Amino acid sequence: MSRKEQQDMNTCRQEVFPTTRKVLEQRGFHDWRNNEFHSLVPPEQGLAGPVYTSIAYAFNTAQEAAEIFSGERSGYAYPRISRGSPTVNVLAQKLVELELGDGQLTSEYDAILTASGMSAITLVALAFADRGRSIVSSPYLYGGTYHLFEEFLPRLGIECIMIDDPCNLDSWRKGIAQAKHPALLYAEDDANPMLIKLDNEAIGELAHAHGLLYVCDRTIGTPLLEKPLLAGTDMVVHSLSKNISGHSWALGGAIIGRKTLIAQIRESYFPVMGPVMDARVADCILKGLESFPKRMRQKIGNAKRIASTVRRHPKVKRVYGPGGDLFAFEIEGTLEDAKRVIESLKLVVFAPHLGDIQTLAIHPASTTHAKIPKEEREKLGITDTLIRISVGLESVYDVCYDIYAALGN
Ligand code: PLP
Repeated sequence: MSRKEQQDMNTCRQEVFPTTRKVLEQRGFHDWRNNEFHSLVPPEQGLAGPVYTSIAYAFNTAQEAAEIFSGERSGYAYPRISRGSPTVNVLAQKLVELELGDGQLTSEYDAILTASGMSAITLVALAFADRGRSIVSSPYLYGGTYHLFEEFLPRLGIECIMIDDPCNLDSWRKGIAQAKHPALLYAEDDANPMLIKLDNEAIGELAHAHGLLYVCDRTIGTPLLEKPLLAGTDMVVHSLSKNISGHSWALGGAIIGRKTLIAQIRESYFPVMGPVMDARVADCILKGLESFPKRMRQKIGNAKRIASTVRRHPKVKRVYGPGGDLFAFEIEGTLEDAKRVIESLKLVVFAPHLGDIQTLAIHPASTTHAKIPKEEREKLGITDTLIRISVGLESVYDVCYDIYAALGN
């Protein structure tokens, strides 16, 4: 680089990045006098953190190997049969802290991270309701979970009783009485796409009074809004693909709960099914996690403002939510009208996803919830003209303008 170029660059850095420069100077890794950029931080203090991509870890002794294999000792060996990789483990610990909040007994809790939210849900069901036991569930579920409970678990001899109303404890009691061998109560909170908020504490108490576990899918509610593990929920599951990672760049799931319960999963179906999370995916989710609370707060605020504007449009019959950053609205007209609205959106992206920084729209009846028979779906309020919006970080005015234009002003 010529002297002139160096001078230009120096001026540019000083003008454009004064704050960054100050930080770098304080750390002492940037030599401004000689205009030399050294590595910003030494490798052992890398700001982004290391990514351990290895899938096999060496043992020091035969005894250590045997103990890690038997589960007596915690350590790394091979992701499917031990604790994943160090990177996956850092994410697991951060999620436990996030789920419990500051100053809680995080040492009594653990998390298993999985390849997707669906594999987390499947693992919980198999680990705690196999051998002919029953799940009593809210019917307000993500379509994939509904399909698993209604179609695939019964094939394996796991009975799934769908109750009528998860907001009513008598409905849960009726479901428990109806089940042959109840093992766990299951619900999604907030329930997607109708955004139904549950009383997790009361459902947890009811479960325990009957000697059952209560498991809650908190993907939509997120740990920012409520910490149900502190109020009687035994385990929470998450699709980390959504708000926790937040950028549509990583598919992952988590099961978080007391160590004894998580150990049961680790020692039963997890090693034989092997739905492990890759370290590179864990790294993406860790990066997303750093901005999770800020993103969420902004998105929740945006969702409230957008939902209240959409509510005023003459073609909108009804608005559900917002619950977290999601809301849904039903329009006047037919299935074709709903499809036309969603296809007319220009800024809002038509995509089978939620919890991103971009605003997304979906037509649940023809996509995420299409596997639920129409009659059942309509009972749950998922009509042909329902559209779900997952609110992002764009300007509220732009999103409202786009939805109004698609609805027809
Ligand atoms: N739970 C909820 C509430 C979801 O919305 C989804 C997916 O949309 C899942 C679970 C499944 O998660 P994944 O897509 O990561 O398997």
